[in-house]
Amino acid sequence: MKIAMVGSGYVGLVSGACFADFGHDVVCIDNDPKKIEALENGVMPIYEPGLADLVASNVRGGRLSFSNDLGSAIEGAAAIFIAVGTPSRRGDGHADLTFVYQVAREIGEKLSGPAVIVTKSTVPVGTGDEVERILSESNTAHRFAVVSNPEFLREGAAIGDFKRPDRIVIGAEDDFGREVMSEVYRPLFLNKAPILFTGRRTSELIKYAGNAFLATKITFINEMADLCEKVGADVQDVARGIGLDNRIGNKFLHAGPGYGGSCFPKDTLALLKTAEDFDSPVRIVEAVVKVNEARKRAMGRKVIDALGGPDAARGKTVAMLGLTFKPNTDDMRDSPAIAIAQALDDAGTTIRAYDPEGMNLAAPLMPWVTMTANPYEAVEGADAIVIVTEWDTFRALDLSRVKDSVNAPVMVDLRNVYDPEDMREAGFTYVGVGRG
Ligand code: NAD
Repeated sequence: MKIAMVGSGYVGLVSGACFADFGHDVVCIDNDPKKIEALENGVMPIYEPGLADLVASNVRGGRLSFSNDLGSAIEGAAAIFIAVGTPSRRGDGHADLTFVYQVAREIGEKLSGPAVIVTKSTVPVGTGDEVERILSESNTAHRFAVVSNPEFLREGAAIGDFKRPDRIVIGAEDDFGREVMSEVYRPLFLNKAPILFTGRRTSELIKYAGNAFLATKITFINEMADLCEKVGADVQDVARGIGLDNRIGNKFLHAGPGYGGSCFPKDTLALLKTAEDFDSPVRIVEAVVKVNEARKRAMGRKVIDALGGPDAARGKTVAMLGLTFKPNTDDMRDSPAIAIAQALDDAGTTIRAYDPEGMNLAAPLMPWVTMTANPYEAVEGADAIVIVTEWDTFRALDLSRVKDSVNAPVMVDLRNVYDPEDMREAGFTYVGVGRG
């Protein structure tokens, strides 16, 4: 089956490469000529573990190619996926659907045979209806169906998630859509991956409800962490104590600096807007958004407190270890590191930072931060070290080397990577999250 994937970013490129690996004939399309040129030269425009090899082997096998010409690339495709970005719209937080509608119009103009148009981008309820309207208005002579197929992969583990998903959700309104999508995912049907067929609007909402629920879980444990600090309890044990209850589950119960990334912040905000538009408030999610937003900057204040308060902090040096919103990605979108670095700069500190993959994208977002070549260079002369992202490389730091090169052995561990006792024994003043 021929598949066209419009948008070759984190989702489009991973999905396209995985579909090719299933045996489909895939063209990944992007309107960024630099991205396509890089891909054609075997250079990945993003960092995602395993992606370069997967792309290379499918290109070699003749199943995967790249194009910036949508018209020729969609020729003969039975399924055309839309996997372009849907960022928060400036000013009001609604999902910005400009790219999705642009692509829908272009597909309408250039469709040269029957096809199912699939929105893989995260889009608010009703977007599929609008895409269908745009395609109808293009007066295409060809049969089409519009289907919703939200993506649940996690950056950093994207290939495994795509190939072994917890579930696949397909929102279709007719048999044509359902049949083509069954064919697209047949290799996963054979693997017995649960496939849920729903209506299109339901499918669109499932994606937002899922992300909002996960954001709520994170925010819940973060507030419990704050309470732990006040009452002298340990949030790691609280998380374990509640997470062993199967009804709760142990995932997404790691207290930290607040959720970030390219999905949770914008998707929770977009859900609020949908709820507002339909006059059906989602008050829990409203609280989650507010609490999380305040938390990121509060983490900056936590570091300032560890330096002895605002007066003492001025002129001190802080080493930030980790900048990306989570490990194993180079994605800096809405990373808590940005608000933390801002708060530290506002407090008059000097910041040195190291991140294994994120520094190129981080540097323009925080031009006042000095990027360094490795964690040891970052901590040289520091008055406090703050672990922002739990990259493996920060789990096994040579603590005596670190202690010898810092100005003061103060560690603020926003990911609870280290054991407080071990750190005290190693001679550090240690501050974790929720370890009262
Ligand atoms: P991205 O920004 O990495 O990629 C989007 C790509 O689309 C870019 O390469 C851009 O150049 C391209 N593009 C934009 N307009 C285009 C056009 N008119 N024609 C062709 N290409 C065009 O975004 P992403 O992270 O891959 O996210 C895509 C969608 O998937 C979003 O809706 C996002 O919410 C959703 N999603 C993302 C993740 C994730 O972890 N990143 C997970 C699940 C769902």
